[in-house]
Amino acid sequence: MSIIPPNSADRRDVLFHLHSQTNPRLHARRGPLVMTRGEGIHVFDSQGKRYLEAMAGLWCTSLGFSEARLKRAAAEAYDRLGFYHTFSHKTPAVTIDLAEKLVALSPIPEAQAYFATSGSEATETMVKMAWIYHAARGETRRRKIIARDRGFHGSTIVAASMCGLPRMHREFGLPLPGFLHTLCPDPYRGPLPGEDMPRFVARLAAALEAMILEEGPDTIAAFIAEPINAAGGVIVPPEGYFPAIEAVLRRHGILVLADEVVCGFGRTGNMWGSQTVGMTPDMMAMAKGISSSYFPISAVLLGRPIQEAMAEMNKDGEIFGHGFTNSGHPVGAAIALETLRIYEEMDVVPHVRAMGERLRAGLRSIAGRSRIVGDVRGAGLMFAVELVADPATRAGFEPVGRIGARFDAEALNNGLIIRPMGDAIALCPPLIIDAGGVDELLERFDLSLRKVEAEAA
Ligand code: PLP
Repeated sequence: MSIIPPNSADRRDVLFHLHSQTNPRLHARRGPLVMTRGEGIHVFDSQGKRYLEAMAGLWCTSLGFSEARLKRAAAEAYDRLGFYHTFSHKTPAVTIDLAEKLVALSPIPEAQAYFATSGSEATETMVKMAWIYHAARGETRRRKIIARDRGFHGSTIVAASMCGLPRMHREFGLPLPGFLHTLCPDPYRGPLPGEDMPRFVARLAAALEAMILEEGPDTIAAFIAEPINAAGGVIVPPEGYFPAIEAVLRRHGILVLADEVVCGFGRTGNMWGSQTVGMTPDMMAMAKGISSSYFPISAVLLGRPIQEAMAEMNKDGEIFGHGFTNSGHPVGAAIALETLRIYEEMDVVPHVRAMGERLRAGLRSIAGRSRIVGDVRGAGLMFAVELVADPATRAGFEPVGRIGARFDAEALNNGLIIRPMGDAIALCPPLIIDAGGVDELLERFDLSLRKVEAEAA
């Protein structure tokens, strides 16, 4: 039975609005949580209740929910030019400025920037570019993509195929053929009994190589990974993982694609997640933090060999047959440029490191007083706290996801927005969070945990 009043906004939402990543029947009973206003790291619902948004929305609003400079940048950009595109040699001026800025920040030498509007489009664009790269070199059989279990790369068909999460495949008959998944480098659950981290890493690299050899190295175009898996559970790979994996990939001529959609722009305590984990990609996709999600804009940075392959592929005067209407939109570009200026002015990397250490120390101290915290993991300002029935054996709660959902509800009661990933609680607050904000987050987290833990006893 629904408890939603007739003719209310909630009822209209249930009737007229299909939600992403939401159970339809449960939504029809519960109705929406309607957010109406933001102030720094906080948001307010339609009843006026205030929440600390410890997920930065969807791992994205790095500058919080009310940055006036971004609003002004948007207004000024709209005053100048409401729209222009990047097809057929044309471009808004501000889009050139953003491309130059991204290339200056790029760890890939002599990069170029390509713009799109979502993370999914950016990851899919990298796949097309990888196909071009190999085709231009005469290796037209190289079409397969290796992704990883528990990876997340978006919701369009190829991006979803690259996800390593069953919920992204189940309803749709995905992944598409040719999209493979190798093991997730989860240091908490991955190692076999008695296996130390170097041997775990060696096993992951060997499993990847075995897959490549079985499929045929000349059929594989690229490997894609988030430096630190976000939606898959905030998995920080063990020391040496990416160097070991990349050695295998390079040996077989396979391109390395970094999905920096969450990890980019300071989130992990370096400008790029790749730098945090020792990954050296040929291309990287970015979105979310590029504009603090104040505009749907994403980008791919591509290295010189890919650029040359694209020129070679079209050497007889054909065009690069790819592009989105809103690629390089002038308003998105202006907002992204202003976002990058703010990151520079706030010296985002040291700030994230300092706040991240404060958050980590606080979470560890909470974990030390709890009987149900099995693992506190993360980097920069991106963490997961895994709740388990028995920290000694790492045995989880049954059924998986129940206590995570309970924690989510209790956190909401306490004015804290987190994201349960099964029974791991994700925290990814806006990067502007200060010491007071971290302490408030910890206090609300602790309160929620104590309640849930008492019930679980
Ligand atoms: N890649 C990663 C790592 C993500 O977390 C996401 C979204 O959460 C995407 C890609 C897809 O981005 P979008 O939802 O903008 O298409």
